Amino acid sequence: SSSSPVSLGFGQSGETEEVQEELVLKPFPTSVSISPALLENLVYDALVWSSLNGLVVGDKSVKRSGTSPGVGMVHAPFALLPMPIQEGFWKQACELAPIFNELVDRVSLDGKFLQDSLSRTKKVDAFTSRLLDIHSKMLEINKKEVIRLGLHRSDYMLDAETALLYQIELNTISSSFAGLGCLVSNLHRHLLNQHGKDLGLNPKRVPGNTAVRQFAEALAKAWKEYDNKRAVVMFVVQPEERNMYDQHWLSFLLKEIYPVLLIFSSFTIIGGQIVAVVYFRAGYSPNDYPSESEWNARLMMEQSTAIKCPSISYHLVGTKKIQQELAKPLVLERFLEDEDAAKLRKCFAGLWSLDDSEIVKTAIERPELFVLKPQREGGGNNIYGDDVKEMLLKLQHEKNQEQAAYILMQRIFPTASLSYLIREGICHQNNAISELGIYGAYLRNNDKVIMNDHCGYLMRTKDSSSNEGGVATGTPVFHDILLH
Ligand code: ADP
Ligand code: MG
Ligand code: MG
Repeated sequence: SSSSPVSLGFGQSGETEEVQEELVLKPFPTSVSISPALLENLVYDALVWSSLNGLVVGDKSVKRSGTSPGVGMVHAPFALLPMPIQEGFWKQACELAPIFNELVDRVSLDGKFLQDSLSRTKKVDAFTSRLLDIHSKMLEINKKEVIRLGLHRSDYMLDAETALLYQIELNTISSSFAGLGCLVSNLHRHLLNQHGKDLGLNPKRVPGNTAVRQFAEALAKAWKEYDNKRAVVMFVVQPEERNMYDQHWLSFLLKEIYPVLLIFSSFTIIGGQIVAVVYFRAGYSPNDYPSESEWNARLMMEQSTAIKCPSISYHLVGTKKIQQELAKPLVLERFLEDEDAAKLRKCFAGLWSLDDSEIVKTAIERPELFVLKPQREGGGNNIYGDDVKEMLLKLQHEKNQEQAAYILMQRIFPTASLSYLIREGICHQNNAISELGIYGAYLRNNDKVIMNDHCGYLMRTKDSSSNEGGVATGTPVFHDILLH
């Protein structure tokens, strides 16, 4: 750390602003200085708090840290102070969550739309093809999911130039970090309670984060709808998982508040119990299916009467290809009332299929303005910069159908701001950009919508120079917001 106080772009907590029609990015009214002594105190307090309160992940340098709880823990990476965000953006993102929940549900019921939209991707992407096969089988036997549970997270970035909130993606499977995200909010409130006066930051402006509690509530309510006291909630997890504490926070709360029987299981160790709810924290990546037995297990779960979170249809609605199809003119309107469709469309960035030769040409000329995305989840799969150009040229040259595996997306450039990022006990000061996720929970039984809420948030921040953003991939850190 340097010896001179560092000036940060944090604002004095002002009065709450009303949501306006058009939001503009405003500079924060003042900036705060942190002396080296205060910084050292803050970092120390934050690290102690994290250790005492379970803001932890498995330490990859310890061999059993991904399999044995209590072995080899390290604090989750986090940003020291919350990120100021205008309340209007926050409200806008929250308001969209129930509409996206409803959209996912309606699209999931249109089996033909899902099959048709993904038909060409299916030919070139083996993973998507296997998912679609399960989906086809369910259509053939006319399987109806009467009770439907969605635990989603819609991720956004705030574009600096246009001052618009753009959706990055909608996660419908294994939407993670509700547990750790809530802890980061508590951490920041704790730090501001202690040091807020010195920093000129009001702890009350860190919104309460109810994500993990509401997810637990949704799972419990689903279990109740299933209506069999002996049935269990099953978390399907990866055999090795360094993010296990995030999952355990959710299961712990679920058991603490509700009399729900809960088991953790991998795809391959299943049997012997009636399952009310299958909650997938695995199954979103090809790596989760090393052999046929995992695919058989997934199929068996889908065929069962258990409530799937997500069902195969919900899972497919969350693919990048469907995101791009929904962004086409008049597609949203097929599923939603015009007013809701317009609200969602406002947060859609440019999304294109690679059939669009004009946009492919532009992307080859200006690759830095695009992100090239395959049908994958979990971070680390997208293509940026010159690699976009190279890949597009390669796809053009090969003239096979391979391009159907990808979509092109307009690249969003959020304003970078100086942040303190803490990893493995060491504080780095970096220019960083943030991504805001809003969780959504949806539960319905036939015609009755039991839950359709936005529930809490996840803020993640990464060095502005790095491309990818899944916390699990190492680069970004957990962050939080400060409304102004
Ligand atoms: P995944 O399902 O693997 O999380 P995402 O679409 O969320 O895939 O992309 C991963 C990360 O890449 C995001 O968290 C974000 O940091 C970055 N990213 C994705 N799309 C864009 C975009 N259009 N503009 C800028 N960054 C993006
Ligand atoms: Mg995703
Ligand atoms: Mg993502």
